[in-house]
Amino acid sequence: MNIAVIGTGYVGLVTGVCFADSGNDVVCVDVDEGKIKALNSGAVPIYEPGLKELIDRSREEGRISFTTSAQEGVEGADVVFIAVGTPMSDDGEANLSYVRSAAKDIGRYMKGYTVVVDKSTVPVGTADEVRAIIAAQTRESFDLVSNPEFLKEGNAIADFMKPDRVVVGGDSKKAIEVMRELYEPFLRTFHPLIVMDIRSAEMTKYAANCFLATKISFINEIARLCEQAGADISLVREGIGADRRIGYDFLFPGVGYGGSCFPKDVQALIATGSKLDLDMRLMRAVEDVNREQKSVLVEQVLEHFGARDEAGALAGKTICLWGLAFKPQTDDMREAPSLSIVEGLLRLGAKVKAYDPEATDEARKQLGDTIQYAANPYAAAEGADALLLVTEWNEFRRPSWTKLKEVMRGRAIFDGRNVYTPERVKAEGFTYRGIGRK
Ligand code: NAD
Repeated sequence: MNIAVIGTGYVGLVTGVCFADSGNDVVCVDVDEGKIKALNSGAVPIYEPGLKELIDRSREEGRISFTTSAQEGVEGADVVFIAVGTPMSDDGEANLSYVRSAAKDIGRYMKGYTVVVDKSTVPVGTADEVRAIIAAQTRESFDLVSNPEFLKEGNAIADFMKPDRVVVGGDSKKAIEVMRELYEPFLRTFHPLIVMDIRSAEMTKYAANCFLATKISFINEIARLCEQAGADISLVREGIGADRRIGYDFLFPGVGYGGSCFPKDVQALIATGSKLDLDMRLMRAVEDVNREQKSVLVEQVLEHFGARDEAGALAGKTICLWGLAFKPQTDDMREAPSLSIVEGLLRLGAKVKAYDPEATDEARKQLGDTIQYAANPYAAAEGADALLLVTEWNEFRRPSWTKLKEVMRGRAIFDGRNVYTPERVKAEGFTYRGIGRK
């Protein structure tokens, strides 16, 4: 099939290259000239394991190309995917301006029957608007499908190639058959393609992300209670996860959720509720707990140094951050908890040094020169009074404590992801503080 993907970000690029790898001809379109230029010169603008190899292979075989021209992509396509961003607006609603603009381009340039697929995360009812925008531009026939994406950054290729499920919302048998054919190579392990109406498909994506965000805020709130009550969240987690109705997945206490999806999707669901006169109380609480959780490490640091929460309280202290990305295996810094942590530390007058294996360039775009970026973990720890583990990259899991003792000025470890064994850290001569641990 001839496929166009509008929007070549984390989702669009992975979608495009996976469909190309399964034998389709794919044109990836993006308005960002820098991104397209980089892709056309063989570079990959984002960090995602395995992505470059897959792009190189499809490019060599002539099955994928990159352009800023929507016309070039859309006019020859049987299927057009919309994979543009839907960031949070100031009022919490999803900003649909990129989706509208993509829809306009599709209407303007499509030729012959086309299946238009919305893969961006959009509020319920958006498909009606997209359909109207396209129809206003063209007399060609088309069907609209909602096909929300569930991939996880850092594991995106595997998630796309072997999805737990594919959700397709549509009202045209013909379009649904096209989707079935397109996804057939990825569903050989009998994971389901679930067909439903468009509104339910649009809602499914929000319900999934909001449920996952709820799990995170739940375990973080219990972790806080554990700390007050003298219990240990690691043991409690072990105890509850063994119940299959609860399970261990996605139940890790930490420094709060971030990234390009959970924060904005929780807010967007709250906004959808309020438009429909429904107060989404649970989601508001999930968001509140998360906001507080992002400041837990800074509170712990203040407590450790016996300082009050006021400007300049940490003046003269150097704090080392291990990890900046919102999670391991990605360079994505959108809504990363590290940003709140850095902001808190700088407000208190601390000097911040950080190391992240992949996200330094992205971090620099947001934090500029307000912090120092180190070339390796131990350089970041040099002269530090405390070390904060913020993102649990594998390379931080087994540090050389001897080396840390050599380079650090202080002896304080704050483990924002509970990856270290407290007894071990203490035996090495450090103080240890985790999340919700004894
Ligand atoms: P992104 O910001 O990485 O990429 C979006 C791309 O769209 C950008 O490169 C931008 O330049 C381009 N764009 C914007 N308007 C355009 C237009 N009119 N024509 C062509 N290109 C245009 O976004 P993302 O993270 O890939 O997310 C895309 C959508 O998928 C969002 O709705 C998001 O919620 C959803 N989603 C994201 C993830 C994830 O993990 N990132 C997972 C599932 C779903």
